[in-house]
Amino acid sequence: MNLGQTTLRFRQNSVRALEDVALRAAMKQAADTFGAKRAEAFAPVSDLEALRDRASGIRDEVLADLPRHVETFVASATRAGATVHRAKDAAAAREIVAKVLSDRGAKRIVKGKSMVSEEVDLNAHLEAAGMEVFETDLGEYIIQMAGESPSHIIVPAIHKNRRQIGRLFTERLGVPYTEDPQALTRIARGALREKFLSADAGISGANFAAADTGSLVLFTNEGNGRMVTTVPPLHVAILSVEKIIPSLSDLPAFLRLLPRSATGQAITAYVSVITGPRKPGDATGAKELHIVLLDNGRTEILAGESRDILKCIRCGACMNVCPVYRTVGGHAYGWTYPGPMGLILTTLLTGMAKSHPVVDASTLCGACAEVCPVRVPLVPLILQLRRRKVREGFPDPKERRVMAWFGRAAASPGWFSLGQRLAGIFWPLVRAVGGKDVAGRLPPPARIPFRRKAH
Ligand code: SF4
Repeated sequence: MNLGQTTLRFRQNSVRALEDVALRAAMKQAADTFGAKRAEAFAPVSDLEALRDRASGIRDEVLADLPRHVETFVASATRAGATVHRAKDAAAAREIVAKVLSDRGAKRIVKGKSMVSEEVDLNAHLEAAGMEVFETDLGEYIIQMAGESPSHIIVPAIHKNRRQIGRLFTERLGVPYTEDPQALTRIARGALREKFLSADAGISGANFAAADTGSLVLFTNEGNGRMVTTVPPLHVAILSVEKIIPSLSDLPAFLRLLPRSATGQAITAYVSVITGPRKPGDATGAKELHIVLLDNGRTEILAGESRDILKCIRCGACMNVCPVYRTVGGHAYGWTYPGPMGLILTTLLTGMAKSHPVVDASTLCGACAEVCPVRVPLVPLILQLRRRKVREGFPDPKERRVMAWFGRAAASPGWFSLGQRLAGIFWPLVRAVGGKDVAGRLPPPARIPFRRKAH
């Protein structure tokens, strides 16, 4: 569920997140677990750097001529029997999906995980049009029940612990309380089975789309992706244009990198390749397949200095290692995409005026770029946005003045030393005036500065 953009309140959102002990514990545990599993999964991959070069090269090749690859994909998918729609923006995508569904009288919709559908706020639109939309990925199912939005692109309910999920199930489904993950999964599976069987249509995203064959490729773990795309008679897939890869033969590089980077698995439980709707003799498949290709500002990004963000394959690894994301979680970022890649994409897709505080949500430590499987240059991209933020006049004027004073003081040993002493004397006053925000974020100055101690 998209709850509207609150990126301008990034700082306030972060302060709230810092006070949420359960959230911080859940984030730390999840991020540590994913980090360890990722390291373990990559340990036997002896050609990792060559593999990353190959995947990065394929993504560069796509971006070098994206319009041609899109045209090739449209032609191939159409030949395979799918109907392909091009959506210029979020409103167009919502309208196209709603029209395809309503023209066929679809009322009950099952959905697989799709961040693009979050980006365009699809569920709210379909529900306003009188349709019932059921998220079927376990994490998405949980947050839909809680009335929240995903806080991670791979693990939407990463911010919740099992006790919170147990209580949620009891409240919303009326089942006896349990915090056993297997029991909770069984409850969700039981509730969802009936939805799959009675659905008029399934909506999915796609991890990749192969231009040469017109195939959609989905990496999933729960089997819900297969149910959504094969059980209902109608399948609507929504994906952004940069998901295209030139050929299905490019897939193995991503097959080796994406699951390892995302969940620390050598391969996901299911890899679905869908080429057109069900054909005579096929055992499964939707009778009708519609593919909605979303642009929503990608063409503009492609023409600009930040185009490399479109190389991203949405593995989420950069989030798991980012000290900012790991501390405040995804909701603080205030829109669909959190973490290092998210702050870049959010700013580019929604504009600096709506997102400038989040540009600061990085320590520039570079951990994100180190783990990125397709070598997205995340740190230079964040620095570009910071320069743009200054050029476009968005920094807080108070902050600019403070930084200008600090710059002058730091350039002069005398002033710097005086500043240190004054900071120590007036610190109680700074805390009193700055309130909880300052007190929580700034450590008190040392009573004896380190440089004096060293003498
Ligand atoms: S920027 Fe790289 S690490 Fe981050 S989500 Fe995208 S592919 Fe994964």
